[in-house]
Formats: sequence, structure tokens, C-alpha cells
Amino acid sequence: MKTCSRRNLFKIAGAGSLALLLPVITKMNAGVAWADDKLDPESPQAAALGYVHHYSEVDASRFPRFEEGQICGNCQLAQGDLEADWMGCSIFPGKQVAREGWCSAWVLKRG
Ligand code: SF4
Repeated sequence: MKTCSRRNLFKIAGAGSLALLLPVITKMNAGVAWADDKLDPESPQAAALGYVHHYSEVDASRFPRFEEGQICGNCQLAQGDLEADWMGCSIFPGKQVAREGWCSAWVLKRG
């Protein structure tokens, strides 16, 4: 007769937990934003930097340095998959910015 030790039970439980978390981890690594992770343009820091989800919404009178073609997707400060619709940004940790978004901290990506 085979017995199941406490150690084996923990191994099985650990493997089961990992199996349950795998889809979540995969989704996060794919650069898919969770709805509440998207940067709120109305939040104080985003508003101060003039962040918008789409460059067409930039207030050019407030930000005369803005030029067509400047988007989060080609900004040096963007993080992760720059071809994805949403990505990280070192200015806004823990939040996702839109690929076609913009803020006044934009810097052309090198290389
Ligand atoms: S710093 Fe760059 S990537 Fe971040 S929000 Fe501003 S333009 Fe987008």
C-alpha cells in the first residue's frame, strides 16, 4: 500500500497553486494591462505632465515642444513590449501607458 507523506502533500499543493497562477503570470508577461493598471490622465502626476492616452489629445498651446510622431511607443522611458497597446513607463511605476499616448517627459528612444 502506498502512503502519502506530508512532504508529498505540500509538493502536490504547490504544483497545483503554480498551475492556477500560470495563466495570470503569462498574461502579465505578455504586457497585457489590467483595466485598473492603466494610468489615469486625471491623476495629479499624469495631469502635471500632460499625459494623454492618444497624442491627438495633446494640448499644443500648453506643450509647444510636442511634435507629431512623439508617442509612448518610441519614448526612451517606456518599458516592456513597445509594440503592445499598453506598456510600462519608468515615470509612472506600476501603471500602464498607451502606446499612442504622450506626456511632456517624452524623450526619443535611442537606437
Ligand atoms: S515618459 Fe514617455 S513613455 Fe512615459 S508617459 Fe511620457 S511619453 Fe509615455
